[in-house]
Amino acid sequence: VADEIGDNSDVYLSEPENKISINTDEDVVSTNTSDDSNKTLVDLSVTLKEWDIPYEKLIVEDKIGSGRFGTVYQGRWHGKVAIKMQNMDPDSDNEDQLKAFKQEVAMMIKVRHDNLILFLGACMKPPHLAIVTSYCSGQTLFNSIRKEKFPINKAIIIGQQVAQGMGYLHARGIVHKDLKTKNIFIENGKVVITDFWLFNVTKQCHGNKNGNCLTISPGWLCYLSPEIIRLLQAGSTTNDLPFSFKSDVYAFGTVWYEMMCGNWPFRKLHPQAIIWQDILVTCWAFKSDERPDFGWLYKAMERLPKKPLSRSPSHPIHLSRSVDS
Ligand code: ADP
Ligand code: MG
Repeated sequence: VADEIGDNSDVYLSEPENKISINTDEDVVSTNTSDDSNKTLVDLSVTLKEWDIPYEKLIVEDKIGSGRFGTVYQGRWHGKVAIKMQNMDPDSDNEDQLKAFKQEVAMMIKVRHDNLILFLGACMKPPHLAIVTSYCSGQTLFNSIRKEKFPINKAIIIGQQVAQGMGYLHARGIVHKDLKTKNIFIENGKVVITDFWLFNVTKQCHGNKNGNCLTISPGWLCYLSPEIIRLLQAGSTTNDLPFSFKSDVYAFGTVWYEMMCGNWPFRKLHPQAIIWQDILVTCWAFKSDERPDFGWLYKAMERLPKKPLSRSPSHPIHLSRSVDS
């Protein structure tokens, strides 16, 4: 993904082959996708205006909840819908945020799969930036796992549907970046994955005023692959962090663990212990040649923080530099 979106520059979504160029002045998006097998380029021109929902046309009802990215409301627009209102970051340029938002909308338009949330349209006029999707009346996999025991057959059925939805996203060149059981709904036995557009529009790790405090929401770390965790620091943005198809696969491993064991892995551990879980995970690699040697282990342990910090509810970790340094 391009770091900066200049007026005349192209915006790349994950891979150059899956190119989305945006001219925000005219609200026109052109999408080039490439099929791996025949490398035929298909040109599509889509007018963002066709997907614009004027804010006044939406009926915003009860607040359902809020996450890192904004607030979700139940609402009405030709039927029951979910409305995800985007938080505008006061520290970032509004134009840039709008462009990033429109880029996500352009991506949403091309995502059509039975196991992915149905995008209906978006409010694209600041300050009301919102994504409108179908409303999921079922419960999240997160709640479902914690309410009842998950027999292996059920885990396989759910897991395969998640794999199908994620496989489709990856084939379209899209990295989810926030795959977790709270973003997987179960509607009458069918998996619906959501929130695969959110990460690119928001600063991931909000620093405090001094910029040296990283606040980590409970349960987030256990979905993050070691290569990402090592680079986490206050103020990190998605562009700084190496999200990839393989980091999505890591997150799926945690989803699978939850279905097997009924909760997050490393739940009772201090966040710093989770940060250094890569020692554990690499030693336990299924393939023997992927396990490290003791020289690597010695150095890895040398980098461990020596004094554990006291635990607090929101798990703030004080970092003046990357955990890797
Ligand atoms: P998180 O994913 O961390 O739970 P979100 O901001 O994505 O945070 O969601 C906030 C709340 O809105 C959650 O309770 C979530 O289940 C609910 N929610 C999100 N999208 C939908 C949807 N399409 N239909 C129904 N509820 C939704
Ligand atoms: Mg969510």
